[in-house]
Amino acid sequence: MSEGAAGAVIFAAGTLMPVSSPPIHDGAVLVRGGRIAAVGSLADLGRENPETEVRFFPNYTILPGAVNAHAHLGFRRKDAPEGGTFSGWLGRLIERLPEKETWTAEAARDSATEAVEAGTTYMAESSPYGECLPQLAESGMAGTVYAEFFPHEIGEPEEAVEFIVGKARGLQEGLPERVDARISVHSPYTVDPESSWLAARRTREMGWTLAIHLSESPEEVEFVREGTGGLADIFGSNEWGGVGLSPVRYAQSIELLAPQTIAAHLATGVSEEDLEILAQTGVAAAHCPRSNDFLGCDVSPVPAMIERDIRVGMGTDGLWSSPSMNLFEETLFAVKLHGMNGATGLELATLGGARALGIEDETGTIEAGKWADLAVVESSGEDGDPEWGVLEAAAGGGVAATVVGGNVIYNRLGA
Ligand SMILES: [Zn+2]
Repeated sequence: MSEGAAGAVIFAAGTLMPVSSPPIHDGAVLVRGGRIAAVGSLADLGRENPETEVRFFPNYTILPGAVNAHAHLGFRRKDAPEGGTFSGWLGRLIERLPEKETWTAEAARDSATEAVEAGTTYMAESSPYGECLPQLAESGMAGTVYAEFFPHEIGEPEEAVEFIVGKARGLQEGLPERVDARISVHSPYTVDPESSWLAARRTREMGWTLAIHLSESPEEVEFVREGTGGLADIFGSNEWGGVGLSPVRYAQSIELLAPQTIAAHLATGVSEEDLEILAQTGVAAAHCPRSNDFLGCDVSPVPAMIERDIRVGMGTDGLWSSPSMNLFEETLFAVKLHGMNGATGLELATLGGARALGIEDETGTIEAGKWADLAVVESSGEDGDPEWGVLEAAAGGGVAATVVGGNVIYNRLGA
C-alpha cells in the first residue's frame, strides 16, 4: 500500500481541491519521498512522468487531510457522563477516572481509527501525562501529544514543571518521524498560576508549542472572576480563583498567551477586549463547537476572530463530550452555526488547523514541498458550492481513503 522508498506515485481524482489554489478538474498530485513533488492536471503530470504509477479516483475529490487542532483520544462513545453543564459533567468524569483506566487504551485506539477513517492526517492530542501517545503513534497519523500535568499530584510548581518537561522529553524518544510530544497547561482551574507561568516560559525557551483549555465554560468564567461556582466546588482546595478578571485576561497576566500557544474552546465570556488581547498576543484558537454545545458552553466568536487575523483551527475534543472524531463533521457543524460558506469551512478544517499549530509549511494544503497528507472523498465536487458539497460528504462518512506522508493508511476501496 505504501509508496516505495525511491518510488513515486501520482494520486489523481475527478476534482482536486488544494485549498491554497482553485480546484482542478481531473487533478493530480505527484508524490515522491512522502512529499508533494508537483500539483497539476492528470494529463500534464501523467505526460511528464510516464513511468509513474497512477492511482486515479475518477468520481472522487482529493482534499488536504483534516488537521485536528484539539482532541482527546482516551474516551469512548458509550456511557458518556450526562452533559448540560460543564462542571456537572466534569464532576462525573472525575468520579469515573479510576474505572476509566481499564479501558482508556482501547478507547484511544478506537478513537484514532475513527479519525483516520474520517480523513484526519494530523492530530494535536491532549491526555494526562501523554498517556494516549502510543495509540496516536500506531495510528499512522502525524501528530503531537500534549502531556497534561496536574501540579498538586506532583509537588511544588518548579518540580511539577520540570517533571512534565522531562516526561515529554522521554516520550519523544523512538517516535515515528512526524509524531512528537509537548506539554499542556490543562486549564485555569486545574493548574496554579505559578506552574502555568513557569510551563509557558520553559516551553517558549525551547521553541515548543503549548496547548491550553481557555474560557470554555460559564463556570470557568465564574471561577476565575469570583472564585465561586461549580468548579470552585469541585476543586475546593484551589487558592487562586477569584482574581476579578476574565479567563483571557488572567491567562495574559500569567504570560500564557503567545504565538506558540493553542487555546482550545474560547467559547464563553470572550469580550471585545479579550479578542483584542488574543489578536495582540498572537495566540491561536482551536474551535470545538459540538463539545461546547453538549456542555452548556456558549458559542465561540470565531467570525470575529478571523476578522482580527487570529489563527483558528477546528478540534473534535473527545468522545465523552462530542459525538464523533470526524473533524469534517465538526467543521460542518461550525459553518452552519456561523453562517460560513464551504470554502471557509474547508480552510478551517485543513490550513486553519495547520496555521494554529504552526505547521503550515509542512501540511494543510496540497502544495509542492509539503507532506502528501490527503483525504479522498466520495464527491464529484461539482455542485453549486463544491467545497460545501465535499465537506458534507466527508462529514457523512464519505472518506474513502486517507494518505499520510504518501502512505495510504486507510483505503476502503481496496484500489
Ligand atoms: Zn479538550
